[in-house]
Amino acid sequence: MTFAIMGPQGCGKGTQAKLIAKEFNLIHVSVGDILRDEIKSGSALGESIAKCINQGNLVPGSYIKEIMNNILKDHDDVVLDGFPRNLDQADFLVNNFNLRGVVVITLSEEESVRRISKRVICSANNKIFSEDVVTEEDRAECAALGGEIVKRADDMPEAVLARLKIYRESTAPCLALFKKHGVPVIFFDGNKSIEDLFNDIKTNARDFFS
Ligand code: AMP
Repeated sequence: MTFAIMGPQGCGKGTQAKLIAKEFNLIHVSVGDILRDEIKSGSALGESIAKCINQGNLVPGSYIKEIMNNILKDHDDVVLDGFPRNLDQADFLVNNFNLRGVVVITLSEEESVRRISKRVICSANNKIFSEDVVTEEDRAECAALGGEIVKRADDMPEAVLARLKIYRESTAPCLALFKKHGVPVIFFDGNKSIEDLFNDIKTNARDFFS
């Protein structure tokens, strides 16, 4: 069974996808993390991926579909974080794999921008923090892994606006396609704290994931 988790930037989908994977014994697949790892490897491919990501654009679909195909052909117990992001990818997913359901975390664009403007990550393991609450201990932990707490280039204001536009115009329309194919979609309010949102998901989506 494959699940997808969707929502605008800053809604907490990465954090919730990790928690969902742990709670319901699924493999967490973050397309963004896979792409960032390719960039870190220093390959020529990584360099061209970085150009797309840093401008807030989507990485070409053929490459993304190849990555997803390689993962999903061997695994049927996955929670997808960051896929699909447009109708072409959604079509590929529903027609080739067993998409059991989609969780959507809703958040206004204003709150999205507010949250992203404060977001920083550990460059070693992509763990997300808010600038307001990152501690010296967090910095030391990240340094011990060989990384540092940094702002993602695609979290700069111009790239964030481009990404939100893509979410609104290309990603959100996937929900109509899921409906057409009879794929269940459940919505959760992303304005809550991480803990409250996860409790909500655990309480209301247990049957969905079991
Ligand atoms: P994320 O970490 O999910 O916010 O993804 C970071 C960036 O990776 C996105 O803004 C895109 O540039 C790229 N990306 C992630 N998922 C996809 C996808 N499914 N298709 C194309 N590009 C993607």
